[in-house]
Amino acid sequence: MKNDKSASGSQYILPALPYADNALGSIIPAATIGFHYGKHHNGYVENLNKLIAGTEYSGLPLEKIIAETAGKADKTAIFNNAAQTWNHNFYWRSLRPDGGGKPPAGLLLKIEASFETLDACKKELAAAAMTQFGSGWAWLVMDGSKLAVVKTANADVPLTKGLKPLLTIDVWEHAYYLEFQNRRADYVNAILDKLINWSFAADNLE
Ligand code: MN
Repeated sequence: MKNDKSASGSQYILPALPYADNALGSIIPAATIGFHYGKHHNGYVENLNKLIAGTEYSGLPLEKIIAETAGKADKTAIFNNAAQTWNHNFYWRSLRPDGGGKPPAGLLLKIEASFETLDACKKELAAAAMTQFGSGWAWLVMDGSKLAVVKTANADVPLTKGLKPLLTIDVWEHAYYLEFQNRRADYVNAILDKLINWSFAADNLE
């Protein structure tokens, strides 16, 4: 998984954003990045470090902590903060300045094999993002040899269901509320048209 450059010794660190904080323009401006990356994402990392200090989870890869705490009632706080750290690390890389457009050829072929058209794939992603009730995530994943769209609630991540994430869209209100208020559809469609990083998704196929 190309998402694990976030540990330093036994402490997780907030990975650097892969672009400047104003690079995503008016869809996700610097003010939203300041709260979402600087406060929410950073908060999950800091909470995780506090929760796992001195435990058997200290120093483990994030994916292993997620796998070992998923579904365990007494480990909910560790799971939530580990998964939210992972999800946000993945989310920022699922976006890029001047994104959208056409996926790389290999990914496009897979999209067409699974959804018939790129447009149908985008519509499914938008529908998953819109119908996730409350907080959560919409994902493009590999399910065996096929691509699929899934949604998860709160901190849940498709890794725990044996699915391989290719890209994600955060639909927690904190991801869009400063700019879009209640208009989640406008945020999601703007991401799919202008910011989604198909190259990142293609890299994750391998
Ligand atoms: Mn978020």
